[in-house]
Amino acid sequence: VIEIRNLHKAYGALEVLKGVDISAPQGHVVSLIGSSGSGKSTLLRCANLLEDSQQGDVIFCGEPVTWKGRGLARHPGDHAQMIRIRTNLSMVFQQFNLWAHMTILQNVMEAPVTVLKRDRTEVEASARKYLEKVGIGDKCDAYPAMLSGGQQQRAAIARALCMEPKALLFDEPTSALDPELEQEVVKVIKDLAAEGRTMLVVTHDMRMAREISDHVVFLHQGLIEEQGPPEDLFVNPNSERLRGFLSATV
Ligand code: ATP
Ligand code: MG
Repeated sequence: VIEIRNLHKAYGALEVLKGVDISAPQGHVVSLIGSSGSGKSTLLRCANLLEDSQQGDVIFCGEPVTWKGRGLARHPGDHAQMIRIRTNLSMVFQQFNLWAHMTILQNVMEAPVTVLKRDRTEVEASARKYLEKVGIGDKCDAYPAMLSGGQQQRAAIARALCMEPKALLFDEPTSALDPELEQEVVKVIKDLAAEGRTMLVVTHDMRMAREISDHVVFLHQGLIEEQGPPEDLFVNPNSERLRGFLSATV
């Protein structure tokens, strides 16, 4: 679904990504691990075009993204493509980013109704279905502040699902949560993986990464240091750096 080739990204003189290839084929779960500052969030942001890049290609469902690092603003004609890609790659952030002045149901319905112009009645039915699915069907009329962190993050996942995206991007979805709340979100993510959803997941939760992933990528200072199936990466890491990283995190 999403393929990234030779991606380079710098902020001024700081080279964050130095030529990264990564792809999440249909139905696969790819996890991205690595220490703080290695460029994981930057990679996700480039994937759904929240961030421009200097070099490299982003290919979405076989279609090359046309701006190719030359500045989104300078290619206004590609705006429709950008919207299409963003709505098809729903992102879930570490901080849930729910709208405080809207109920949970309104939060989940907002983008499908206003951005995708879908029928309000149908969107409401599907929003309720997804809230039920993540286990907070009884919170439709509550405001975000009335929910626990784990419930807020599950609402954010329902909101992403309600866009009916082709793939989901997660950026450390459990790291802002207390351990006991973390597990309820992990369970939702595991269920999504088991359903065969295409996902690119940045996480510090090695146990979850090992259970849900088809492929794991270890990023180190903007380059892929090692990648492979979770059984290889977690059980028999080749790289000294990955071994060090794993022993520091588990
Ligand atoms: P963490 O695990 O802490 O979330 P990360 O792997 O997600 O780290 P990134 O957020 O991708 O790391 O950041 C990589 C590097 O890019 C860091 O050195 C960071 O300071 C820098 N960086 C990120 N965003 C910006 C920005 N908008 N402007 C300048 N530098 C940035
Ligand atoms: Mg990050």
